[in-house]
Amino acid sequence: MPELPEVEVTRRALAPHAEGRVIEDVVIRDRRLRWPVPADLATHLVGQRVDRIDRRGKYLLWRFPEGVLISHLGMSGAWRVLPRHGGVPAARAHDHADLLFADDCIRLTDPRRFGALLWHPRGDGPVESHPLLAGLGIEPFDPRFGGDWLYRGTRGRSAAIKQVLLAGDVVVGVGNIYASETLFRAGINPKLAARRLGPARCDRLAAAIREVLTEAIAVGGSTLRDFVGADGAEGYFMLDAFVYERAGQACRACGGAIARIVQGQRATYYCRHCQRR
Ligand SMILES: [Zn+2]
Repeated sequence: MPELPEVEVTRRALAPHAEGRVIEDVVIRDRRLRWPVPADLATHLVGQRVDRIDRRGKYLLWRFPEGVLISHLGMSGAWRVLPRHGGVPAARAHDHADLLFADDCIRLTDPRRFGALLWHPRGDGPVESHPLLAGLGIEPFDPRFGGDWLYRGTRGRSAAIKQVLLAGDVVVGVGNIYASETLFRAGINPKLAARRLGPARCDRLAAAIREVLTEAIAVGGSTLRDFVGADGAEGYFMLDAFVYERAGQACRACGGAIARIVQGQRATYYCRHCQRR
């Protein structure tokens, strides 16, 4: 499943092919994504210039003068850039939507169809107030985010710290993979009640979140050219994990066995020795 680093790398891959360019046509082959793709999407987009592609959490926000196209990769989605050579490149199964520019076809493929493609007209106000975006916590790279923010956000929260990270209302972008990895990096037990984290551990955790996500985005940056062309990879990648999906293997810090537990129906991986408390 794509997490924040994949979405940020996707944004960086698409921006040079879309920003400042005009959409000439839109092809929707299957409207049945997580929510139906608006039947009139083309009428909003054709002839409009993309001002900028921003990211908010795992959403890409394609900003146009008349509104914002909100896209999400869901469980299995990927965007790819295909050269047009004047036409529409042949589509394969799961190629649900194309944004056609003069030179490029930017194509959304999503086998499991949990992704999203929605239109937010300018008249509806700032896109940040859209129901999908309004409840999101701040970005991990927002200058306001840090140990203090995490400390304040976890007071009174008796849920396990891993669950609070996944909820995304304190800080966005720490999905299942990176929750395990950042808690290992910070030496914090994923089962610990969030409210029991003191200021020092909040500082360590906030730093770990930024470090791990920064490293993952850097790893993904090496895949940028895979977004262009029909035979590219789907753009998913993974840090060399310390704990994620390493159950039973030796901890790289202490040599003990990595444990796997289930929290909120999601797998958590951690080292009982390095993350005792
Ligand atoms: Zn260990």
